[in-house]
Amino acid sequence: MSPVRGQPLCQVASCRQRSCRAVEIDLPASWDGAREYTALTVTVGLCREHGSEVSRRTEALLQARSDHGALLAVIEMAAVEDLTARQATEALERALAEAEGAVAYQRDRAERAEAALQRAGQDGGQVA
Ligand SMILES: [Zn+2]
Repeated sequence: MSPVRGQPLCQVASCRQRSCRAVEIDLPASWDGAREYTALTVTVGLCREHGSEVSRRTEALLQARSDHGALLAVIEMAAVEDLTARQATEALERALAEAEGAVAYQRDRAERAEAALQRAGQDGGQVA
């Protein structure tokens, strides 16, 4: 189909077809993961073929925006779980270090008591 003089052409730069449909392109204003977002809507005149293609790509863009938000939520949840696990590990490591310190202290006390008992036994032997 050749363009009719005075009729708008398809807005795809390389296309020489007549524009026969208006396609709305919603451009998301933000990609921060929020479910609600505003979009800037641009309406372009396209030929039938490019109209279908741009519609498909626009839907894919909005689906990507939706998937992006869901993926950010998953990543955020995983980060929180990772932090929680790391904090639990650190608390266990601190408890373990305290327990090791307590064991070393008790072992030291026991060795001193044993040494004192041996000295007392030797002293008693000398006195008797
Ligand atoms: Zn076209």
